Amino acid sequence: MRGIRDWAPEFDEYRRDESRTMGEASSISFPTDEAELRAVLAELERTAPDAPITVQGARTGLAAGAVPHGGHVLNLSRMNRYLGLRRDEGGAFHLRVQPGVVLAELRRLLAAKALPQAGWDAASLAALDALYGGPAQFFPTDPTETSACVGGMAACNASGARSYRYGPMRPHVSALRVVLADGDVLDLRRGEHRAHGRTLELVTEGGRALALDVPGYTMPRTKNASGYYAEDDMDAVDLFIGSDGTLGIISELELVLSPEPCVTWGINCFFASEAAALDFVSAARPRLSCAAALEYFDGSALGILRSARSGCAAFVSLPAVPESFAACVFVELECDDEGRAYDELECTGELMRSVGGSEKDSWVARTDVDRERQRLFRHAVPESVNMLIDRRRRTAPAITKLGSDMSVPDERLHDVVALYRRTLAEAGLESATWGHIGNNHLHVNVLPRDERDYAAGKELFRSWAREVTAMGGAVSAEHGVGKIKRDFLLAMYGSDAIDEMARLKVALDPRGRLGRGNLFDEARLDAAVAAMRKGE
Ligand SMILES: Cc1cc2nc3c(=O)[nH]c(=O)nc-3n(C[C@H](O)[C@H](O)[C@H](O)COP(=O)(O)OP(=O)(O)OC[C@H]3O[C@@H](n4cnc5c(N)ncnc54)[C@H](O)[C@@H]3O)c2cc1C
Repeated sequence: MRGIRDWAPEFDEYRRDESRTMGEASSISFPTDEAELRAVLAELERTAPDAPITVQGARTGLAAGAVPHGGHVLNLSRMNRYLGLRRDEGGAFHLRVQPGVVLAELRRLLAAKALPQAGWDAASLAALDALYGGPAQFFPTDPTETSACVGGMAACNASGARSYRYGPMRPHVSALRVVLADGDVLDLRRGEHRAHGRTLELVTEGGRALALDVPGYTMPRTKNASGYYAEDDMDAVDLFIGSDGTLGIISELELVLSPEPCVTWGINCFFASEAAALDFVSAARPRLSCAAALEYFDGSALGILRSARSGCAAFVSLPAVPESFAACVFVELECDDEGRAYDELECTGELMRSVGGSEKDSWVARTDVDRERQRLFRHAVPESVNMLIDRRRRTAPAITKLGSDMSVPDERLHDVVALYRRTLAEAGLESATWGHIGNNHLHVNVLPRDERDYAAGKELFRSWAREVTAMGGAVSAEHGVGKIKRDFLLAMYGSDAIDEMARLKVALDPRGRLGRGNLFDEARLDAAVAAMRKGE
């Protein structure tokens, strides 16, 4: 078939994602619309009915969800069209897109009021006039890596810094079209298909009735991208968001746009100790009502930045970070007017003083140029760490950076940081920590010097998964579970719950083909498939 290509060396980059793990596959396709996608599935059904199918967006994922475990790679990056727009009764705009639309492009086209309108119906064009005639709108989910596709972001329930204010991807998706492994389609609009308790009844476009048992576990009250969404009376849209490419293929999405804030300012608040920075965050949460992001950089991250500034031409324009600064909290304010922004700025200074700091130790960015420098500061940290690891890999090729992605409830922030510090010190590991402290969601990055450190870091993460679960947290807050955090998911929910997830999966994908290796180990999935065949 024209759409399916046998594997060849030119496709080797599609064997990996940003987790930097490699898989293998025997064929690949790049459909450009839902009809082509379904034709690929029909052909696979005929020629390779049991072959695994791995869905890919932009492959920026960090959990190896898009890394194939044999079979076929279904790459959706060419399904990147803008399909229409509607305005709801409340005035909100819903943009209908294909899953391969890239976030950076979406943002640019929205800001420039230049969305492609080819093929749009009259209602969409009328909504577009209203969009362009009114206050500027944007799409708030911001998983840092703007080359991500919106389909991949939905499949991971991506978040990022602004999720402190806007939450993850989930609430910003109002409708989905999902192609199931057999090519049948579910057309789901938020509010129209709800579970009764934990039973979700859906009818496919082909007329097939599905009765799905939603797993019985209770999800943590924290930022969470660990396993399937499961709640009494839940919306069907939510089941597919965050499902890591295992339940169906998102072939269309409706994205809910939000009004652009009138004033956006950034403040880097520096502290002489980590303890002061943590106290600042606890004090700031109830006081700063305009905070859109509260982000953290620990002393090691600042140290890495100091070296990067002197050692890398790309970072010379960064402001110098005095040695006395041992921790930084970045606050992004989004306010309706400048008066409000000044009030919040003053409040930020007061909060810094209340924890023993001083507003003199802050950088305030009010202009686009200054905010761009702050962005460079934030991006320079992970980039410098990647460069450091690349240097270390010359002598220890098996190592990679190990980044954690766990969240805990607000009241456990100090406890979890104490846990990280104590156990890192006991293991003698180097680390640098940054991330979304407003959501108690830090990326602790272990920086292995050799294979021994690498193994010790992995072991440490396993122990953190258990401890974070005991604190009421999530083992993956935003990157998804993919293939590399399956053990953590098991620690979080236990074996019976993982079996419930596997049964739900095979109710939608009876041969267990989609996203094979994600969420469950293959033996567990095969057992669920066999049980389903026997009618258990
Ligand atoms: C430098 C860097 C920083 C990052 N920072 C953040 C951050 O701050 N916050 C955050 O949330 N994430 C972050 N990420 C990772 C983030 O998960 C991805 O950027 C994004 O969410 C995945 O989109 P993608 O298109 O690349 O998906 P892929 O990597 O291609 O796929 C991800 C998963 O989604 C599935 N999938 C993809 N498309 C579909 C579809 N149409 N239907 C069904 N399943 C599908 C795949 O099978 C896979 O399981 C970061 C990544 C990098 C490299």
